[in-house]
Amino acid sequence: MQVDQIEMGTVVDHIKAGKAGKVMKLLEIGENYPHRVAIVLNVPSKKTKTKDIVKIEGKLVSEESANLIALVSPGASVNIIRNSKIEKKFVVSLPKEVSGIAKCANPNCITGEGAKTLFRKEDGERYRCHFCERLFKAEELV
Ligand SMILES: [Zn+2]
Repeated sequence: MQVDQIEMGTVVDHIKAGKAGKVMKLLEIGENYPHRVAIVLNVPSKKTKTKDIVKIEGKLVSEESANLIALVSPGASVNIIRNSKIEKKFVVSLPKEVSGIAKCANPNCITGEGAKTLFRKEDGERYRCHFCERLFKAEELV
């Protein structure tokens, strides 16, 4: 698979195996995305046995958006590529707040009626719904 030469784009590496689809969703790369995207599943990895990799041409993902990936795959690393060189590299970290993208699983929560969701991070990598105050694990949000 020859996808290494990205001139401008984002590579997300060390994704927990099986989570590439969720990463695409979190970065809002859908079927209408006009540029090349490569998803490589179950790549052998020294650290974790297997991992997924997502390479997105034509999109420079912000650190804020990229940190959403930590919800499903803590430890994923992000490479921002410009002019065929790695301009910035960082490991994702859990965001303090998650707004809009996540759904509250409490059937009685007011956000079920269409209000925009908001969760705030608490200790132990858990998030509390701003509206119903129920507590969720990070991976339960997405
Ligand atoms: Zn709620």
